Amino acid sequence: MAAAQARGSARDPRVVIIGAGMSGLLMGIRLKQAGIDDFVILEKAADLGGTWRENTYPGIACDIPSHFYSYSFAPNPGWSHWFAPGGEIKDYFASVAQAHGLPARIRYNSEVAEARRSDGTWRIRCTDGTEMEADMVVAATGVLHHPRMPDIPGLSDFRGACFHSAQWRHDEPLDGRRIGVIGTGSTATQITAALVPRAGQLSLFQRTAQWVFPLPNPEHSRFARWCFRRLPGAGRAWYHLTRLLFQWTFSRAVLGHNLAHRMLAGIARRNLERSVRDPALRERLRPDYEPFCKRLIISPDFYDKIQQPNAELVTAPIERVEAEGVRTTDGRLHALDVLVLATGFEAQRYVRPLQLINEHDETLEEAWSGGARALRSVAVPGFANFFMVAGPYTPVGNYPLIQTSEIQADYIMAFVERFRNGEASRFEARPEALERFVRDMDAGSERTIWRTGGCQSWYLDERGRISMWPWSFERFRREMRRPK
Ligand code: NAP
Repeated sequence: MAAAQARGSARDPRVVIIGAGMSGLLMGIRLKQAGIDDFVILEKAADLGGTWRENTYPGIACDIPSHFYSYSFAPNPGWSHWFAPGGEIKDYFASVAQAHGLPARIRYNSEVAEARRSDGTWRIRCTDGTEMEADMVVAATGVLHHPRMPDIPGLSDFRGACFHSAQWRHDEPLDGRRIGVIGTGSTATQITAALVPRAGQLSLFQRTAQWVFPLPNPEHSRFARWCFRRLPGAGRAWYHLTRLLFQWTFSRAVLGHNLAHRMLAGIARRNLERSVRDPALRERLRPDYEPFCKRLIISPDFYDKIQQPNAELVTAPIERVEAEGVRTTDGRLHALDVLVLATGFEAQRYVRPLQLINEHDETLEEAWSGGARALRSVAVPGFANFFMVAGPYTPVGNYPLIQTSEIQADYIMAFVERFRNGEASRFEARPEALERFVRDMDAGSERTIWRTGGCQSWYLDERGRISMWPWSFERFRREMRRPK
């Protein structure tokens, strides 16, 4: 990748990391481990944890086994469940940050408004007017971060409580009330399963049906937890077992019509047949696209909960929201007290809306006017010494982001080391390298299930291009082994 120019003098770079979520903390830990102290993590909120801080809706849990959804260097023997609840995951990130001495490096309530590069230096300005300089900027701003508000007429007319799933109103009572949930993604199904036992009536507004994979979520027994704590080998073995399982099944299944896809898709199809008793409801819950085209829903009890007497699946399209509830195109008014918008995120925004301006006065917005693209997900031509963790083309299908972030952080650290050694002071992606990379990504994505499966999802940008890594995790690791 790197066009290494101007030899620098050997010194530690000043680094600014944007975001104190999973990947920003990781980047901070890697700098600390390398003995680099001149860095700061700028966090716009008053707490760390990224998506696990923002999302606190009822029923939130990871849909990747928690022993695998952990930093490889910081196993947690105390995970309560196979798929730990969200609060536990946030506490995990806080404790790892503490153990690595990061809290002193994080500046909270510091939202970056602008980062401008001139004379070989990045000048960063926060919305509160604070300014600082850096040799390198690492954006670790997450993928699913900006809530997508649906464009439904009348939303502001609703007299009850209405909020996005990532902005949960914990002051709003739920027990015994009439709750509407718009959306049927991973978030909406977790909310539905958690709230049906509490609500007076729950109406789930479905625009597109989803395939559901029935994985149970048992507690780790006290004996298992004792083993994880006392026998570190047991935790490592569990980690690697889950890793291999994911690598060869869920991660493979999105790469085309292969054995893993047939096997797992078969389980999802059987789950629908066996779990939904009413044939009419079953048909309404049956997606008209291939399993894995959208992110597969992992839930042991969604079908059970949607069949409860106080739950209703609404498939008539929404016409508008009114003061009393949601009006569907069949003329029916669904009267509600609470309306939850589980309508997903603007996955293509990445680091934006922050103004990133390079030495030629070009903004990232302008550079990305044809779509967000980054060489090996980490670098954008024209934007020297600016790196991203979890940038465009990052998520490796169905593989935990935490594992890909570790690889990207190490990749970025290789440039930090070169700067530090005085080997070079400026690193920039070549445009022709990006073009080659994008061609490779586009070609790879043609045979993925996201392209051939016949659906729309947040994996595609507004031009219909797939912004995921379209190859295997092994290939991702291989290509990211050392900087090019
Ligand atoms: P999502 O998968 O993008 O789902 C959004 C839902 O809202 C879809 O069902 C969509 O329908 C619907 N929707 C959007 N706009 C609408 C409108 N105007 N009218 C009616 N329906 C509308 O978002 P998400 O459920 O928040 O999940 C996003 C991703 O977060 C997941 O894919 C997953 O990767 C991650 N996640 C992970 C976990 C976990 O356990 N680790 C939990 C939650 C989320 P259409 O399908 O028709 O567009």
